[in-house]
Amino acid sequence: MKFQMLNEKNEKEVESLADIVFRRMHEGIFVLDPFFQILYINPWGQNVTEYSEDELRGTDFSSLFVNINDYKSIKNHLLSEGLWKGEILKKRKSGEIYQEWMDASAVCNEAGKLINCVIVFRDLTKQKKSQSEIRLAAKVLENISEGVMVTDQHGQILSVNPAFEIVTGYHEEEVIGKNPNLLQSGIHDQKFYEKMWKDIIEKGNWKGEIWNKRKNGENYPEWLTISTIKDENGNVTNYVGVFSDITDRKETEEQLRYLAHQDSLTGVNNRYSLLKRLEELLNTAQKYNQQLAVLFLDLDRFKHINDTLGHNYGDLLLKNVAARLMGLLRNKDIIARLGGDEFVIVLPNIKHPKDAAKYAEEIIHSLREPFMLEQHEAYISTSIGISLFPFDGANVENLLVNADKAMYQAKERGKNQFEFYHKEMHSNLPIKMKMENYLRKALDRNEFFLEYQPQVETRTGIISGVEALLRWDQPELDRVSPGDFIPLAEDTGLIIPISEWVIGTAFEEIKKLHVNGYPNLKVSINISAQHFAQDRFSNSIEKMVQLFNVNPYCVELELTERVIMPNAPETIKKLVKLKQLGIKLSVDDFGTGYSSLSYLNKFPINTLKIDKSFIKNIHKYKEDSSIVKAIITMAKQLKMITVAEGVENQKQFDFLLTEGCDQVQGFYITKPLRFEQLKKFLEEWDPELL
Ligand code: C2E
Ligand code: MG
Ligand code: MG
Repeated sequence: MKFQMLNEKNEKEVESLADIVFRRMHEGIFVLDPFFQILYINPWGQNVTEYSEDELRGTDFSSLFVNINDYKSIKNHLLSEGLWKGEILKKRKSGEIYQEWMDASAVCNEAGKLINCVIVFRDLTKQKKSQSEIRLAAKVLENISEGVMVTDQHGQILSVNPAFEIVTGYHEEEVIGKNPNLLQSGIHDQKFYEKMWKDIIEKGNWKGEIWNKRKNGENYPEWLTISTIKDENGNVTNYVGVFSDITDRKETEEQLRYLAHQDSLTGVNNRYSLLKRLEELLNTAQKYNQQLAVLFLDLDRFKHINDTLGHNYGDLLLKNVAARLMGLLRNKDIIARLGGDEFVIVLPNIKHPKDAAKYAEEIIHSLREPFMLEQHEAYISTSIGISLFPFDGANVENLLVNADKAMYQAKERGKNQFEFYHKEMHSNLPIKMKMENYLRKALDRNEFFLEYQPQVETRTGIISGVEALLRWDQPELDRVSPGDFIPLAEDTGLIIPISEWVIGTAFEEIKKLHVNGYPNLKVSINISAQHFAQDRFSNSIEKMVQLFNVNPYCVELELTERVIMPNAPETIKKLVKLKQLGIKLSVDDFGTGYSSLSYLNKFPINTLKIDKSFIKNIHKYKEDSSIVKAIITMAKQLKMITVAEGVENQKQFDFLLTEGCDQVQGFYITKPLRFEQLKKFLEEWDPELL
């Protein structure tokens, strides 16, 4: 009895063990009767098939198959061979078809008669998916341009992709099992790598620029991301490095930096960096009460050499001149080329003006020696104007303008000499006073009028707009150019009423054109710094737009870099306000001021007008043409329109067309025209003929 009980218990235990296996197993199990009807299905199998045991019990096993022929052949196989294994397509209750691994065996009695079939099966969906994901990942790795390297947790390389081989020059078999430090360039110190590993360990990844070495020994910069891969317990199993070779990007960055600061022909500072450095030097001079001299040099007879020997020799001469001048500099002196044959030398911290004079003499003397331009011997000389801080100007602009004036004086007095700036050079004081008097009366006397110069789309020849240029007809003074009287108007505060007159007149006249067949013609108006600086500037423009009922989308304001640079946050507010009205904004004389394009990008600017001094020399100096190209390219990236000013001939036009400059303005199209002439010009203009 006892035995029986024990036996019974044992049987129960055996039963429950089987139960555990059936119930807990992460595989599906069917038990079929000899007619292939379902007797039993375990819970995992119910999950996979989505049927409950009750729903399935007694149904035909064939109902789960997608293809009845599959079922038939499996059944035959089982009957004849006793087992069948393989992958098969099955259908869930929801109708979803899935792939299954099936292992079926026939259970027979001692007489060999089939009594049951036991089928163990596994849903392959996940496995298939991850397999296809792995295949996809492998395909991606094969094809992406980033190099990929996978290491184990000890940093031994396990695999690399084809891009790795292309960038580093190492084949997979050369690096497998090695440590990635075989790529180290030696450029970074131990600290660099320590910091990198600290990040990887603490944050799980590291990103940055790193110099590595290719198999051929060449160092190259790459952008590298290293990530850690962990298992479910949080232990690091692998590191993955993804990198791209940024040699090209580095080169363009270098080039742009160079373009921004250096004169590409001679290697000395360019205008931009001169202005910046001179400003710094002036701050120092002011702080420590030092004197400073600005020497403005213009070569005599340079044009003659350019014309007789050609531009290549002209360029060569400029390089040689720069080299000779650099040889004369002291440590802290700076030299810059402003373009053409103009150089500026700044002598900081001089003790006495005569130091500057002595230096100018040395320069004149040194340049007197002949230059060997390959087989040609060339002679030149130079005229130098000198201005002194603090006597002749307190800021960069004044010092440069005054040194320039003194240089002209030196030329006038017979060249090959230097001249200090004198106050009297202030363009003849009595005339200036006279002009100021007249200027005060000019508005009342109706002496101002506007001329308009068309802006033409390079590719289509269509006239998109006109620039309004102020003219002053003063009977006593002849025609004074705006370049002369506008600074005076600014000095005397007269610029505000004059500016308002210009805007009103331009609005009135452009409206006449809008209603007479040119509804989209844009008018560009020059805005002076003083006017723009007024608090109520944007409001007053808004009022005028309303008063004259002019379409704001056809109004563009031209601002120079000098106008928008100071006080950037205030400026941005004003510009945004104008932009919201629909008014367009352009930067006039671009390239002559301090600003870099990336800085300008902060402002809501539509158009860049490339200064005419660059256009003038596109075919003379490679440097000017490359600056123009760079401006066009960068403006495109910043989605700004480029307008070339001062286009005078077909050659310049063709260059600009090829380089993708959007619009041109200049004598090549027409000189500025009076309103009546402009109307006629618009009527007669044929875009096709450009
Ligand atoms: P800007 O705005 O750069 O105007 C272009 C200047 O280039 C004009 O000189 C124009 O006559 C001249 N120009 C046009 N095409 C060519 C060309 O093919 N070759 C050459 N060499 N020059 C060309 P303009 O009229 O003497 O004006 C000089 C400057 O005076 C203007 O430069 C602008 O800054 C200022 N200005 C003119 N009108 C106004 C105005 O109404 N208000 C203010 N604030 N400034 C004005
Ligand atoms: Mg302008
Ligand atoms: Mg301009």
